[in-house]
Amino acid sequence: MQSKALATPHSLNKSVGNGVRQDSICELESRARALELTGPQWEELASKVLAYAWAHVSTVRDQPAYNAKPGNGINLLSSPIAEHGISIDDALDLLHDNVDTVSLNPGSPRFLGYIPAGGLVHSAFGDFLAAIANRYAGIFFGSPGAVRMENLLVRWMAEVAGFPANSGGFLSAGGSTANLSAIVTAREACHVLADDATKVVVYVTEHTHHCVDKGLRIAGLGHCRQHRIAVDDRARMCPENLDTRIRKDREAGLRPWLLVASAGTTNTGTVDPLRSLNEVARAHNLWYHIDGAYGAFFALCPEGEAVLDGMGLADSLVLDPHKTLFLPYGTGALLVRDRELMARAHGGMGAYMLDMETDPTEPSPAYLSPELTKHFRGLRMWLPLKLLGLAPFRAALSEKIHLARYFHSQIQQIRGFEVGPTPDLSIVTYRYVPSHGDADAFNRRMVKELQRDGRVFITSTRVGGRTVLRMAVGCFRTHREDIDLALNLLEDKARRLENK
Ligand SMILES: *Cc1c(COP(=O)(O)O)cnc(C)c1O
Repeated sequence: MQSKALATPHSLNKSVGNGVRQDSICELESRARALELTGPQWEELASKVLAYAWAHVSTVRDQPAYNAKPGNGINLLSSPIAEHGISIDDALDLLHDNVDTVSLNPGSPRFLGYIPAGGLVHSAFGDFLAAIANRYAGIFFGSPGAVRMENLLVRWMAEVAGFPANSGGFLSAGGSTANLSAIVTAREACHVLADDATKVVVYVTEHTHHCVDKGLRIAGLGHCRQHRIAVDDRARMCPENLDTRIRKDREAGLRPWLLVASAGTTNTGTVDPLRSLNEVARAHNLWYHIDGAYGAFFALCPEGEAVLDGMGLADSLVLDPHKTLFLPYGTGALLVRDRELMARAHGGMGAYMLDMETDPTEPSPAYLSPELTKHFRGLRMWLPLKLLGLAPFRAALSEKIHLARYFHSQIQQIRGFEVGPTPDLSIVTYRYVPSHGDADAFNRRMVKELQRDGRVFITSTRVGGRTVLRMAVGCFRTHREDIDLALNLLEDKARRLENK
């Protein structure tokens, strides 16, 4: 039992209980109040941050797409986290010199490597507002509005993808974690136990994104069999080969479990034959997952919709708004046809969470996803969609497909270049065949030369055992002039390297 402290507000140096003194609380309070901005501090911070942001956005078209800067931001380390703060000017200088001007510039219209996106500025304002009010988007009770907003976006994505309106879904940190949740949902739905791991089979192709392999390992199924189904000459999974393989596996006493199709491979942008694969999956009672992290949002435009036919038939689908919905990094999504199965894999409840009302029509993200307290991601997606409407998104996605086709037709007009198939979506594979010497080494040298130049950023990959270059059109800022510059630079670098 504790003795009662008889403190009055006036006895500052008196104990107020547990050995705590009134004056020490006052002293701590005056220092802790530094965490809250005053009006003038708000004005200064807001105006300087906004000026910095606008300086970036208004010049991004002229900045290098890749900036090989000596030191790679090492000077950040000379300013360690310390007892006392620095000015916003100094902080922005550190950010500018060590982060925002170093290496890849994904906001550049001439960032044409990997999978571009760009980072819609409207989303940044959405993030700002989400952080300012800091609404709790994990559970309906915490912020019914925030949960409704995220569920509205899930229902909208379901509609875009052709999933039923009552599908489950959530906004994830990205495509990798969304694929992981799909794997875990499929594991629980099909009662795959750790002991079964050596018997169950996952069907993929050589172009399946490596996050699927990673997800299987994290999900405790690293030892399961991944059978790579042979692809056709356009790098698409062959349904006949899949069917044959499943039959053989059954006969061999294995347990066919999960089919992972790609709605746009990262490597070559190829879309698997989604409708025919669905038939094979259904015939053999497999969980049918589609990884649409790169390509699913192309369903918003007519060219993409045709290529993605059958996408809505899957059991689960990953989409990545931070890729082809042009959001800044940090937002992926998973849709699962049967919401109940998603809840079975992800539900959870703590004793301290009992006094919370629920609404059966608005499931809480915390019960369908791995996170509890989470970033209110919905606002960064909702704000641009609401402010801009869908029309410019549809146009931009069509434009990317058209630019990829344009590049595909133009690059083969330049002597020495050969191309892969006409692009399904917005990635073109091509390479230069030099008049003498090793073509793989030549193309890798070209990538290095282009990076040193920095005006365009282009990456390479391996297809069919050969090094090829990739043209990935995906930033909302990329337009015809940027593709023309890339074409000119590619021709120029090829000529120079030939003559060396
Ligand atoms: C990018 C990508 C992923 C991984 O998504 P992240 O958002 O990078 O985690 C998975 N699959 C495909 C097809 C992708 O393009």
